[in-house]
Parts: sequence; structure tokens; C-alpha cells
Amino acid sequence: MKITPSDSGPIAVAVPGKFHLKLHYNSPDAVHVGARVKVTLGNKPLTGVVLEHSAAPNNVKLKNIVEVLDEKPLLDQASLSLLNWAANYYAHPVGDCVCSSLPTLLSNGEPAELTVTELYQQTKLDADSLNKLEQSRAKQQTALYKALPREGGLSKAQIKERGHKTTTLKTLLEKGLAQVVEEQIQCPQNTKPSAGPALTDEQAEAVSQINEATGQHQCFVLEGVTGSGKTEVYLQAAAHCLAQEKSVLILVPEIGLTPQFLNRVQQRLPAAITVLHSGLNAKDRKDNWLFAQSGQAKVIIGTRSAIFTPIPNLGLIVVDEEHDTAFKQQDQMRYHARDLAVVRAHQAQIPVVLGSATPASETLANIQRGQYKRLQLTQRATGQRVPSIAAIDLRSQTLKDYLSQTLINKIKQHTDAGNQALLFLNRRGVAPVLLCHECGWSADCHSCDSRMTLHRGQYRDMLRCHHCDASRKAPQQCGSCGSSNLLSAGAGTAGLEETLTQLFPDKTILRVDRDNTRTASALHSALDKAAKGKADILVGTQMLAKGHHFPKLTLVGIVDADAGLYSSDYRAAERLAQQVVQVAGRAGREAPGEVLIQTHMPEHPVLETLLKSGYDKAISALLEERQAAMMPPYSHMALIRVSHTRADRAEAFARAVGHFAGQFSQQANIMGPITAPMPKKANRWHFQVLIQTQTRSERSQLLAQLVPAADQHKLASGVRWSVDVDPLDLF
Ligand code: ADP
Ligand code: ZN
Ligand code: ZN
Repeated sequence: MKITPSDSGPIAVAVPGKFHLKLHYNSPDAVHVGARVKVTLGNKPLTGVVLEHSAAPNNVKLKNIVEVLDEKPLLDQASLSLLNWAANYYAHPVGDCVCSSLPTLLSNGEPAELTVTELYQQTKLDADSLNKLEQSRAKQQTALYKALPREGGLSKAQIKERGHKTTTLKTLLEKGLAQVVEEQIQCPQNTKPSAGPALTDEQAEAVSQINEATGQHQCFVLEGVTGSGKTEVYLQAAAHCLAQEKSVLILVPEIGLTPQFLNRVQQRLPAAITVLHSGLNAKDRKDNWLFAQSGQAKVIIGTRSAIFTPIPNLGLIVVDEEHDTAFKQQDQMRYHARDLAVVRAHQAQIPVVLGSATPASETLANIQRGQYKRLQLTQRATGQRVPSIAAIDLRSQTLKDYLSQTLINKIKQHTDAGNQALLFLNRRGVAPVLLCHECGWSADCHSCDSRMTLHRGQYRDMLRCHHCDASRKAPQQCGSCGSSNLLSAGAGTAGLEETLTQLFPDKTILRVDRDNTRTASALHSALDKAAKGKADILVGTQMLAKGHHFPKLTLVGIVDADAGLYSSDYRAAERLAQQVVQVAGRAGREAPGEVLIQTHMPEHPVLETLLKSGYDKAISALLEERQAAMMPPYSHMALIRVSHTRADRAEAFARAVGHFAGQFSQQANIMGPITAPMPKKANRWHFQVLIQTQTRSERSQLLAQLVPAADQHKLASGVRWSVDVDPLDLF
């Protein structure tokens, strides 16, 4: 790391907000690059971060900063380089990018210090007094006294955890038997790491290749089905890195959905480990961030925003489930944490490992180009076979609420044998729509061009809009002709659960989706029940597809694959292929498994290739199609989304954006403005402009000019607009 000299004089400062130019101030006192300073903008006080020592371009007289907040840099050179790169690539104001990378308490200007807690310890007693205490009937006091250490101490929470009462503690304090010391909290250290299994040959090969890359940049793709032992590879490579006195950053899509993964890392690695995710309260987030920033934590596990954390002496980055769309931020700066992980590893000249059973199409394209190195785990570590996958042609079958007789028979067969079946359906509610059987009227959202879905409740049925979240009571009569002959069309998870209850009255059915597991604890208890085999049939959405281990599961039914196959979105087929393989990974972890896919289109090329030749071949076929059509990753997109409460204002601004784009680049392909696939959403009108270029640098140059110009356009007031570089959805 480069040591930045501390200096007084003119500085460029990053502040939150939409400032496309750097703001300059004068600092009377010496200040480091990467330190926070207090400044005023107009009369508004702001906390900013020093980006560099440099004067404003036209030598205007500079305002003084108010105060230097950090004596040492809070952000190191490596973090600042990554943040600068990201701001440029994603066409986002650098100040906003830098400031929003800090935990809220630090971007608010609070001191960069760890929380101080009170710890309780014994006071020294002579043998006589100790005897007296033991002989008195104060058993609880004696027990607590003995539990307290002489050095260091226990926090109040730890004392309670061990079954002592706070009133007992109070008595000990009053009697002078216990005393309190104040200490900065410390990152939990794992002192008793458990040993892992002996690696398979494939795992050992993967680990040795990663270890050999220590100290140089190389991007590895660790490809292996669920259960093939990828996590074991991460753990051993991480252990090697720790042994070299270097730190490890592990990115995961969602911490709440992978508690098993987290526990495993915490038990296995001999290090101080910390976590960073949005579920932490502000204080914990600041402390954990400071553990990482100060080098106290050696292993940092986090969700996407953790990619920006300063980590001294970083030696390895792991991105688990790299294909997961949760790595893409969908508001403010729309970055992709997996892509930034590769950039960060390149800047730091260290290896990065992207792990997945279903690598994203762009990752496979990078392997084909020879940019990334593939490491494959072809067998399950436990020796289990990968389940067989087959399609069920729905066309000639009568359906019982989306279930074919073939699938019903299979469910019976597997559950009668004492195993579990999982039915996967990526929809919520009883039915997507409420229809009038007489006139065809449907219940629509009042604020969107979208149909309401029916959610069956205990007391009354509700209609809910999945786009703007509006909800209202379900009507008893048609809104157009007044008929009470209303139908619910199409099944959701709750409807499927109902049908299954009728078909299998003697089986236990467990549904897991966002409607019935709103809290983390409800989700955990449902997953725990499922894992312990307390349910015969599981019904769920993609929440059931990720990272869980269900030993008794042998049958997976994908109830409706058609949404992915009929979609006009160019990435839908890729997503379907990923879902099929991921859900299949849940089956047969301990017994042979079987996966059945219900579809009206069994001859769809992606599905056919997937079943015949596997995931990689299916994606290769997709990539060939995309190359022929010059779609990403063979071209580069930026999607500009515009909205306004008035349609004409939204469209006029979108037109201006398209006009600028054409002005700033002759080569770019500019599509639009067009109305968004859902033009009216939450009472705003949505338009979009799609920009497509052959090279990334063409796109960056275009956006660097377009964004500030559009911002200053006279039509910009009242408009909300955003730039999405490498969009995952075109709506
Ligand atoms: P993945 O991350 O690819 O899903 P895991 O690393 O979680 O795979 O491994 C799946 C299961 O196999 C885990 O229970 C793990 O403990 C076990 N396992 C992994 N590697 C080995 C090995 N070399 N020998 C025995 N068991 C292993
Ligand atoms: Zn709505
Ligand atoms: Zn009607």
C-alpha cells in the first residue's frame, strides 16, 4: 500500500449527492487522502472524504474546510482506486459512490472508533472472605463470582447467556466483589478450529492451483454441482492465505439464506472473522467494518456492498454462487459485486475464485476467451450421483391445478417410500389473477398497468399488486357486469398447497415463500423442519432453491417452466437453466434423486440441450445465439430509465437523453425512447432508452458526457432517472 503524505492546502473532497464534478476546498491543517473532513456546501454541513491533494482547475479562491475528522486515512489507496473505478464504469458521481460505501455512522461523521463496552470482572478476595461467601447461603452470588474472570471480563449479555441474573451482578458490585472495566469491543476470534475432511483429487487440484496463484492476479471459476465440495475448496484456500498472514474476503448473495455456510466458515478457519450485511444494526455494522478496516478481522464474509470494505493485506477474494442476481445492486449505483471483485483482485494482483454450479453466461464467455481459468468438480464429494432430470410434456395431459398425473404419481411413489418431494413454483399467492367467468373482467391495480394477484387469508382474501405493493380486499362481484361468478386463474404456491392437501390428505405439507415466512426466524424454523424430514411434501419459491441441505429429499418437481421459456427477456432462458440445476441440487444429497420439469415446450432448444448435454452446453448454445444477435456479452449495454407523474414530461426527457446519446457517439446503437414494459407504475409513467456499444470504453465515454448534460437539462425537474450499466433486466 502506498503511504499518502499528509499535507495542508487545496484538496478534492467526495461528498454525498449528485455532483458530477469534484468539489475543492482548502485545508489549513494537514490531512491525509482517505480521511474524512467536515465541510459546508452553501450553508449545509456535510461529511466528506479527501480524494486527493489538488487545486480546483481554474484556481478560484477555495473555501476552508471546517474540520479534519480522521488523523489517519479511513479509506486506503486500494479502496479509493476501486471506488473511483466503479464510479467511472457505472457512470455514478464519485462523491456519492465513496460516501455511500461507508457505514452510516461513519458517513454521518461519528468518530471512527470501536464501541466501548462495560466488562465485569472479579475483585480480589482474601481466602477468609471467599470462605465466608461460599458458606453463606448466597449460592447464586458465589456461582457468578466464580464465573467472572480476574483479567478481562464478561459483558452483561454474556453473563445473562450463562444463566446468571442481573440482580445478582448488582449485589456483587454493591458488596465490592465484582468491578466494572471499560474496553473496546474485539472481533470474535475462533481459537478452536475444527479439521476438514481429506480432499478428493479434484478438490486438491483446485486448491493447489489457487494457492500457486498467491501474490498474482488470476481469476478462477470453480464449477461444481451443489454438494461437490466447493465450500471445502474455499476453506482450504482461505486457510493457506491466512497462513501467509493475509486476509480473505468472501462474498455471498444473501446471508439470511445461508446460515449453514456462515457457521461452517466460522467453525473451520483459525482466525478473527467478521460479517457485513444489511441485517446488522448501525452500531454492529460500524464495528464490524472497523474490524475489517483496521486489520483486526482476517476473514470478512459479506453481501455485495462488502466489496468496497478496506482490508489491509488482502490475499484472496471468493465469490460464492457468482451467478446470483443478488450481487447486482438495483438502485443508486447499479454495480455488480462479482464484476467488482474481479476488478479489485486485478488491482491488488491477487487471485479471485468465482464458485457456482451454474456459472453465469458472461463468466462462461470469459472462460471461452481464455480470460478466466476453469476448475471443475465433477463428482459429489459424498459420492452421491447427480439426480436424473427429465421433462413432462403437459400438452396431452389433463391438469389438476397445474399438476399432471405423471407428477402426482411420482409424488405418491417417493413419499410412500418415506422420502421427501419438493415442488418448486416461482410465483406467490393463490392465483395471479381474479377473472370474471361471465365477461372476462379482471381485477387490476389502480396505480399500475398490472393485474392484482389474489392472496388467500384466514379472514378475508386480499388482492395485492406485485409491482407497487398496493393491496385491497378481494371483491365478491365483478367490477364490470356485477356477476358473482369469479374465478381464480393459474396456480400459485398457496393454491398448489391446497390442491396437494386434497390429493394427499395423509401427508404433511410445508409451504415456504415470502408470504408465510416474512421474518428470518419463521424462515429458519420452516427450513429446519424441512431439513429434519418433518414434512413429506415441500412447496416453495426460489427461497427453497438456495444452499439448503435436505437429506431426505429425492424428488424435485418444477411445476411451471414455461414462464422462462416463453419470455421475451433475452436472459430468461439462462435463468431457467440455472434454476433447474440449482433446484436439482437439492435432491438426492443422500439418496438417488429425480427431477421432473413440467412444460408445454419440451422441444425448446435450451431445455433440450440442458437435459441431453448439461448446463454448460445449454449456455454455450445460448451464447452462440447472442453472438449472432450481437447481444451481451458480445456488446455492451446501458439502460436509462426515466419516470415522471406526467407521461409527456417523461417521454420528452427520455427523448432528450436519446438525442444526447446520438450526439456524443456516432457508433452507438440507440434504441428508444420506448415506453417501459410496464408504462404506469406506482402512479408514475416510465420510459427508457437503451444504449448499445461494441466496446466498454465507447460506452464509458458516451456516459461520461451524457450524464452531466442530462442532469442540467431544463426538462430534468420532476424527473427521476437512472443509468444501469450492464443491466440484468431490460425493464
Ligand atoms: P458445495 O459447496 O459444492 O455445495 P460442500 O463443500 O458444502 O459443497 O460439500 C458438500 C458436503 O460434502 C458437505 O457436507 C461437506 O462437508 C462434504 N465434503 C466436502 N468435501 C469432502 C471431502 N473431501 N470428503 C468428505 N466429505 C466432503
Ligand atoms: Zn400497482
Ligand atoms: Zn363480469
